[in-house]
Amino acid sequence: MSTIPDFDVTLNEQPVPAAERERILADPGWGRYFTDHMVTIQYDAERGWHDARLRPYGPIALDPASQVLHYAQELFEGLKAYRQDDGSIVTFRPFMNAARMNRSARRMAMPEIPEELFVAALEQLVRVDRDWVPTADGYSLYLRPFMFATTRALGVNQPAQEFTFAVIASPSGLYYKNGIKPVTVWLSQDYTRAAAGGTGEAKTGGNYAASFAGQAQAVANGCDQVVWLDAVEHRWVEEVGSMNLMFVYGSGAQARLLTPALTGTLLPGVTRDSMLKLAPDLGIPAEEGKISIEEWQAGCESGQISEVFGCGTAAIISPVGAVKSADREWTIGAEPGPVSMRLREELVGIQYGTRPDPYGWVH
Ligand code: PMP
Repeated sequence: MSTIPDFDVTLNEQPVPAAERERILADPGWGRYFTDHMVTIQYDAERGWHDARLRPYGPIALDPASQVLHYAQELFEGLKAYRQDDGSIVTFRPFMNAARMNRSARRMAMPEIPEELFVAALEQLVRVDRDWVPTADGYSLYLRPFMFATTRALGVNQPAQEFTFAVIASPSGLYYKNGIKPVTVWLSQDYTRAAAGGTGEAKTGGNYAASFAGQAQAVANGCDQVVWLDAVEHRWVEEVGSMNLMFVYGSGAQARLLTPALTGTLLPGVTRDSMLKLAPDLGIPAEEGKISIEEWQAGCESGQISEVFGCGTAAIISPVGAVKSADREWTIGAEPGPVSMRLREELVGIQYGTRPDPYGWVH
């Protein structure tokens, strides 16, 4: 039904002054600063997607009875724009984020957005705010598409009919400012992130709201990140923080990769998918499977498991150095492992255009 509408463009008459922007780009941190513009597109059941706008970044007015504020009917995505050596700008696998947003939309009874419109919205924003894409090594512009229900109604029996899709952008620095350091993780046995039949594989705000208490518990126990376990037995490993988990068995020419299978309770990460495709081409067999906390501990203690890392758009890879829970504790390594770093290097090389992209991932 929907075709791609033309974007109505209103440029920001008071953009951040260039000197101030350069100061921000020198040390943007993560998710703290936003560019001069944003995209908004409206949806209703009659007209489909319409009223596409590129407009100055700023507050969005919402009726207090908007369904998103009460029932959290909301989705989001996350991906980055990378500056290449020749000054051009690419995004990484944006159609995969579009497809994931639409899978999330089906689960959350929200409208799907044509993939071309999703990607056109990213392109519009990156084009007008291109000076916000940092030039420093390893920096990028994080893109945050999101969608929420604006129908003014408190009834939960009539799903919302009106939605807003928006894209904002935020310059992003190095995740690890002082070099990549393995993190300590906490096995969450009190809180779970997702259960079968729930919304774990959807990128919806409620999953993250539900995770804050577990993350706070991890920090209270001296850990950096929380490891989510299955909701039934609390022993099958699912994710770490907002990253997928990868286990390296063996080392050198014998190294192989295992990641928890997508059972419906894990977010299907774009980075995870990219690692599963890259690794075999580097001679590292990769498989999806199941791993329990007992197997993880025993594997590390016997030396069978040589490296463990989280992977996601923000950090790319985040090595896990030590694991703690209420009743157990073990270590993996104080330095990032060679397989983790090799995979990271390959992926970053493709993203920044310093390595060939045989997969057609950059856009
Ligand atoms: N799991 C969760 C729960 C996440 O929020 C994310 C970040 N989107 C990931 C995994 C990693 O996904 P991606 O590689 O697409 O960033």
